Amino acid sequence: MPTRADSRVAHPAAPHLLDAVDRLLEPWCRERGQGAYRLGQIRGWLFARRAADYQAMSDLPKTVRDELAASFALWTTSVARHTQAEDGTEKLLLTLADGGQVECVLLRDRVRRTICISTQVGCGMGCVFCASGLDGLERNLTTGEIVEQMLRLQLLLGPDERLSHIVVMGMGEPLANLDALLPALEEAHRPDGLGISGRRITISTVGLPKPMRRLADSCPRYRLAVSLHAPNEQIRRQIVPVGEKISLAEILQEADHYFDVSGRQLTFEYVLLAGLNDRPQDAEQLADLLAGRTALINVIPYNPVAGLPYRTPSSATQQSFRGILESRGLAVRFRHRKGDAIDAACGQLRRRTLSHSADST
Ligand code: SAH
Repeated sequence: MPTRADSRVAHPAAPHLLDAVDRLLEPWCRERGQGAYRLGQIRGWLFARRAADYQAMSDLPKTVRDELAASFALWTTSVARHTQAEDGTEKLLLTLADGGQVECVLLRDRVRRTICISTQVGCGMGCVFCASGLDGLERNLTTGEIVEQMLRLQLLLGPDERLSHIVVMGMGEPLANLDALLPALEEAHRPDGLGISGRRITISTVGLPKPMRRLADSCPRYRLAVSLHAPNEQIRRQIVPVGEKISLAEILQEADHYFDVSGRQLTFEYVLLAGLNDRPQDAEQLADLLAGRTALINVIPYNPVAGLPYRTPSSATQQSFRGILESRGLAVRFRHRKGDAIDAACGQLRRRTLSHSADST
């Protein structure tokens, strides 16, 4: 977003710098007789020194700042809404250049500063309980739009706070947009990017076997979380429609392959829905299914979505589900419900805003 101080402002069609920082800046610096030092300096400002715009890059000559602003867009989104919960969770609803909207979240937990980012506008997977997919998939996000979420959230941090973790668990199916996601995560990981170790970056997938294999064979650096949600095919088909074409066996085979190649502990996510997948025999069957794996089961009590008929199981049911898994020796984590008050579950803030604007037209 150009500031008033920019005397020259990028043309609306100017390339988005965050789409390919090195590829765009290398020739740009070279043409101006400025070498790798300048590129490193600009990268430092973007990722480590948290510049809010080009003019903030105060040790760059004014002419260079102006020329950068004229050549490349830095921000392509605008903040449609910024909400903050008492537990420190902050959420941004971003409007993209074409009017689409996505959400991203900053979570604070002791010293952890985790950001949750989106990879698509909407989602094509159709999980019945999820707000993001209710209107289907609009489009993939670009690399620049994904990196922009990271940097915008980083700008919300105080000077003593440091981003520590990234979860790709916002709107969309990350493995359906790997081409844009991988270069974005590369910027997150590089020491001259955000410098976040691969162990602290988690990609969550509904379980798409082919891209799971591609990730394992090309870039097994990140943690993988697989949204299972069911202990057998019959229940999974009711909850995860893409599951009709993909068997649990195939998903587990690819998850195991990812573990073999990456050595990273797997996570299996399981949204607990009252009356659908929360019975004691479901827990027993889930334990049978996952037995023998180095895995963490992340149980997420359903977070109600307006207009959907599902219910969150009682705490007694949740406890008994947990107890069964633990008695079978599985590592279980129940996800804390952070940011409920600001609709921090994926897709909820966007939907609420969409329906408000639909109401008012
Ligand atoms: N498409 C990816 C990322 C989705 S969001 C995936 O399927 O994994 C990350 C997690 O939040 C997924 O496990 C998803 O199923 C879960 N989730 C979505 N809506 C939810 C809701 N209303 N309550 C609880 N968990 C939800």
